Amino acid sequence: MKSGKTAAGKKHDASQGAKIILIVGAGASGMLAAMSARYAARDLGVGDDRLRIVLLERNRNPGAKIAISGGGHCNVTHEGPVDRLLERGFLRKNEQRFVRPAIYGFTNEDMVALLDRYGVPTASREDGRVFPVSGMAGDVLAAMQRMLRDAAVELVTDARVETLVADGSGFTVRAGSSTRNADAVILAAGGSAWGSSGTTGDGVRLAASAGHAIVHVLPALAPVFFTEPPDQELVGVTLRGVGLLVETDRGSDFRRGDLLVSHRGISGPACLSLSRTVASMMADAGSAPRLAVDFFPGHDEGAVSAFVLEYVSKHGSQLVRTFLQRCPIAPALLVDRPEGVETETVTIPNAFVPEIMRRAGICPDQVMSVLTKQQRRKLAAVLKRYVLGTAKKVPLDRAEVSAGGVSLVEIDPKTMESRLQRRLFCCGELLDYAGEVGGFNLQAAFSTGWMAGRQAALSLFGKEPSARA
Ligand SMILES: Cc1cc2nc3c(=O)[nH]c(=O)nc-3n(C[C@H](O)[C@H](O)[C@H](O)COP(=O)(O)OP(=O)(O)OC[C@H]3O[C@@H](n4cnc5c(N)ncnc54)[C@H](O)[C@@H]3O)c2cc1C
Repeated sequence: MKSGKTAAGKKHDASQGAKIILIVGAGASGMLAAMSARYAARDLGVGDDRLRIVLLERNRNPGAKIAISGGGHCNVTHEGPVDRLLERGFLRKNEQRFVRPAIYGFTNEDMVALLDRYGVPTASREDGRVFPVSGMAGDVLAAMQRMLRDAAVELVTDARVETLVADGSGFTVRAGSSTRNADAVILAAGGSAWGSSGTTGDGVRLAASAGHAIVHVLPALAPVFFTEPPDQELVGVTLRGVGLLVETDRGSDFRRGDLLVSHRGISGPACLSLSRTVASMMADAGSAPRLAVDFFPGHDEGAVSAFVLEYVSKHGSQLVRTFLQRCPIAPALLVDRPEGVETETVTIPNAFVPEIMRRAGICPDQVMSVLTKQQRRKLAAVLKRYVLGTAKKVPLDRAEVSAGGVSLVEIDPKTMESRLQRRLFCCGELLDYAGEVGGFNLQAAFSTGWMAGRQAALSLFGKEPSARA
């Protein structure tokens, strides 16, 4: 590429007469931004020779995170009406409001249709997650690369952007020894999570250099490591549909879902969803968040104690151990289930039973009928709040996304344009939002990228009558 002059008033890349949109980062949002910029320009009748779209990527190949997403299967989006997607995917209202216009502008159905056009049919699972039918993230990535070629996007790899400078007439970007000029810049360099994939917070730093306020970056959708490793017998055990509680002296939060005990702490959907709160509690000086399981979410301690009492009255000769081994996890109704427990009912894993009894002060061979009132109450308390451990770390390098980043108040949600710098756009995970597990983060990246690309093209050509194109 021939670099244009950067002095204010001079047209960028004037020798070629083409305008330039430069996009930093060829991930989910950057690739969609590049495509939509081209589609918008073509819709305006702007020939490809009048707009160069340059996509700069620090890695050797684009889309590293897409390749590893969904365990290599790529959960591309989440099915259903957009309002429901927003409700499920973005629990914080300000973040939900922010991504709403973009997701309405380029919906889950739009993404599915785009992939379908490029030969990648998708299917929804029972839980609403959408995957390519082939189950291969590589197919999604290959399709996106074909889309880039069709959109005449210039992809430049091994190009890590280090600086961004706005001058009177445009931008100058430096990547290694090369300097490039642009009429509009889209920052799509991702967040700060899973740094080994190339996202080490460069996008956030570049935005900060343009004057943007940065909200403290935190891991989200991450495992939680404990100060003491969990008991060996519990490692690898999955708890289905339980409540997960995090608490400090200053507050608490709760999620419902599956949980996995690992060598260093916990993981699984409920943990991933709660990890951002855990990280934020840890960032508060002096807080050491405790994590506890609730085996009976939706029922208070008194109701669980009454449930045990009722069971004692009917099955007094049964061992407490047997009762617990048959005890359903998270039942919707506190009926006398353990006796005639249905085969598909999920029960408390055996590995937890001895420790539950120990904490409730119950001997291993105690029968139900000799449970004292105090033991029964204690048992109910342990079942409602089984402390798993104290959080030591929520690892950013193992997080699927990062929260924090470019402050949302300085970005126009209807265009993704900076409110501080004309023709500078930000999209994707570098913005201060984080979605839940389920395809919401890729969708948000696709949608905000799509909006940024389209608006960048419109900002350069939108006012020109298409007859002159
Ligand atoms: C293990 C894992 C699994 C995941 N699975 C899913 C899933 O199944 N479904 C889902 O919805 N979400 C998933 N996510 C989250 C999702 O992948 C991201 O939220 C999404 O990719 C963010 O898109 P983005 O474009 O903002 O950033 P990214 O996709 O991270 O792209 C940013 C790009 O910018 C490049 N870059 C960074 N700095 C520079 C620089 N200075 N110069 C040039 N290029 C630069 C990076 O190399 C990268 O290619 C997963 C994440 C991880 C880590």
